[in-house]
Order: sequence, then structure tokens, then C-alpha cells
Amino acid sequence: MRLRILTAALLAFAMLPSASAAPPPSRTVVFRGGRVLDGSGGAPLENAAVVVRDGRIVSVGPADKAKVPKGAEVIDFAGKTLLPGLISDHSHVGQTVGTTVGSQNYTRENIERQLRQFAAYGVTTVTALGMNRPLFNEVRKQAHADTFTGADLFGAGQGIGVPEGGPPQAMTNNAPDQLFRPATAEEARAAVRTLAKNRVDLVKVWVDSFLGKVPKMKPDIYQAVIDESHKQGLRVAAHIHDLEDARAVVAVGVDIIAHGVRDQPVDAAFIQEMKKRGVWYVPTLELDEATVVYADLPTLVDDPLLAPALSPELRAQFQDAAWRKKTLEDPKADEARHALSTNQTNLKALYDAGVKVGFGTDSGATPLRIPGYAEHRELKLMVIAGLTPVQALAVATGNAADLLKLKDRGRIAPGRRADLLLVEGDPSTDITAVDRIASVWRQGRQVAGPLTGTAQPAPQP
Ligand SMILES: [Zn+2]
Repeated sequence: MRLRILTAALLAFAMLPSASAAPPPSRTVVFRGGRVLDGSGGAPLENAAVVVRDGRIVSVGPADKAKVPKGAEVIDFAGKTLLPGLISDHSHVGQTVGTTVGSQNYTRENIERQLRQFAAYGVTTVTALGMNRPLFNEVRKQAHADTFTGADLFGAGQGIGVPEGGPPQAMTNNAPDQLFRPATAEEARAAVRTLAKNRVDLVKVWVDSFLGKVPKMKPDIYQAVIDESHKQGLRVAAHIHDLEDARAVVAVGVDIIAHGVRDQPVDAAFIQEMKKRGVWYVPTLELDEATVVYADLPTLVDDPLLAPALSPELRAQFQDAAWRKKTLEDPKADEARHALSTNQTNLKALYDAGVKVGFGTDSGATPLRIPGYAEHRELKLMVIAGLTPVQALAVATGNAADLLKLKDRGRIAPGRRADLLLVEGDPSTDITAVDRIASVWRQGRQVAGPLTGTAQPAPQP
């Protein structure tokens, strides 16, 4: 039964070869005659050709100058735009199924399903920023393999929270093996050493108080985490909400601010410090939008872009008038609206000042933050915040790869992986064009076509 359901879910994304397929024979693909947005933030290249061989980009340039190797598969993409696959610097995997959240959902089957969902939406690389169980290492290794047809996976292992504090157990329903909650600086250092031994890609630390509901992380703990991480050659991403906490972690050397500042406008001193220290900033605008948008906009449930990712359980919840009323009456609704608008203002200020901005949504952390769909919402919210579509797409591709120090992807340039997103129309002038997916490619192999159908019931643990 479970297998049949999973198969149906895969078909919903028009997925191509299965994960167990042998590596394909070497081959050359030439995309010819369309528009290329290369992920660098520069102007699009019109009437371009991109040559891909054995999973890597060989050349990009004008179509009339391109040499088409003998035997190459030629794809005429006139009227379409080729982009690097999107890269999330802040998501989670294995937390949610339907409307449930908790450790029971951290299964290989569910994580693979989510990684395929990300890929179907054009997100070809995902960072699971904490709350991972020991299974993570195995799944990450599999996702790195070029036979896997879902998104590639990086992550922070468990991550480091606060005893009785963030991330609140009531919200995450985590098992004890999903987080370190050190009570002393020495315990914090020991946690980092364990993470380093497990070769995490980043260290995650939860600092803030979740709007005053739980105790904050004490400065001596996050200082110890940052210091020990740097000794181990690792960088630290901090969960914050308020400017005060962002300022405090930046002052002691944090590398990545993993959420936008959402309580007040950022000031010149903070912007200056972020720039001087080269700290990355990942706004996660969609996090707060997701808290209220499905109650605010009941018609969103019919968004065709959402259908392939919307489980029947979540659909029923969004259509439930009582749920919508409760959501709108909750004080969290207004807090989230305020947080989103502050976050957008701050993003524009920081981006324009030259602060390094990465791409993330916190998708997958709760049922409302829907993998793949969330990333498409985030792009629109960035444009509403005042970034141009080209800037927003560069953040979601080239910048997002730079944040992860991945020099093998994120741009359409010779030598990079052919992780590609082909869309109808011109997202450089209309960001919604990125929703009209024609195909998704991973290492030169097509892994998804147009988004079609509706999501099937998710696998039950
Ligand atoms: Zn998160």
C-alpha cells in the first residue's frame, strides 16, 4: 500500500528515472535558441546556447556561435529561459507529513519524497538547517550521488538549542537525538565536536526566545559554539528574530544570520557591521507569510502551482472555516504580518547596502511551510520587497551557492554542474514566469517536467 501511494506521489511530479537507475551513459545536451539567466545577477543572454556534457556545463554563449557536437541531443528552447537550479540555504527535511510534525516523520521514505518535491519545483539543492536525526548522514550521502533524482542535500546535523528553550519542543515534537541542548559552555563545545565528527556542512544555533515564550540562549553558550565551530573549521548559522540578538551574535563572530530581523528596522551600525564582517543574511520572508496567508487568502488553496505539493490533509485544513477563523484570531497572525513587512523593509536596506544575501524559507519546518512551493513564494516576496527579478533569482542561485561555498553549482558557467531549471517566458521581467516550469535537470539529466496533478496522501510512518 505504502509503495503504491509513494509511486502515485512521484507520478504527480511527472518524475523521470527512479533513484535506483544506473548512472546514464555519457552524453551531450545542447540547449539552443532561448534566454539564459546565468545566476550572476547580470542581464539575460538572449538567443543563447548552453552545451552540457556528462553532467557539466561546457560552454554558454550566442546560439549562432555554438558548436553542436556530433550525436548531441539538441533542445530548442526559444521562448523559454534557462536558469541554474534554485538552492535553499535554509530548509528542513523529515519534520512534517500532512498536517503533522515530529520525529516520527524523520524517515528515509519521507525525506526522499520531500527532496523529489523540492526538485519538481526547480529547487535542486537543499540545506536542512538542523533537527536532523542520525539517518541524515546516510541520506545526504545518497542525495550527493549522481543517480539520485531529488534535490541534493546539505545540512547542519542536529543543531544546538536551549534547555527548555528554542526550538520549542511543543512546536517541533522532536526526539532527543534531533538536537543538542547544552547547559554549559563545555557541553556546547562537546556538541560542536560531535557535529564536526559527523562532518556537518554548517552548525545551527537557536538563540531567540520565540516571542518571549521560551528562554533565550545565554551569550556564553553561543560564544562557545561559535568559537569551537571556527576551531573545527565550521561556520555557524544563527536563528534570530530581533535586531538585539542579531547584533549580539554578529559581534561575537557568527557567520550566517539564518532569518531576517523582524522586530524593527535595521540601523546603519548593524548594516556596517554585517558588511565589515562579511556575514551572510537569509531573510526567510515566507516563514511569516505562511503563518497567515492560507487563512488570509482562502483562494490560495486553488493555486495550480500549489496543487502538486498540497497533501489532502493540508487541503482540508485550508478549506476548514473554523481553522481559518482560529488562525486569523490568533495574535500570531498580526505578529506575522508585522514581521513579514519589517523583514521585507530590512531585506531591501541590507541588499542595497551590499550585505551578502542568501536564499531560504524555513520550508519543511512546519506543515504550512511547503517544500518547493515556499521557494516560489519567497521569490515573489523578495520582488515585492523591492529587489528586481534578476536580483532575486541571483540570490536564489549564485548567491545561495556562494553561501554554501559550493563552487560547482549556482551559475550557468563552464565547469559547473548542469543543475538547471527551464521555464516558460521571461522571469527576468516577470518573476511569476519561474512558476511555469518546463523541465528540471540535475547533473545534465532531466529529473522533472511541468508541474502537474495533485499530491497524493503522504506516506504514514
Ligand atoms: Zn529553520
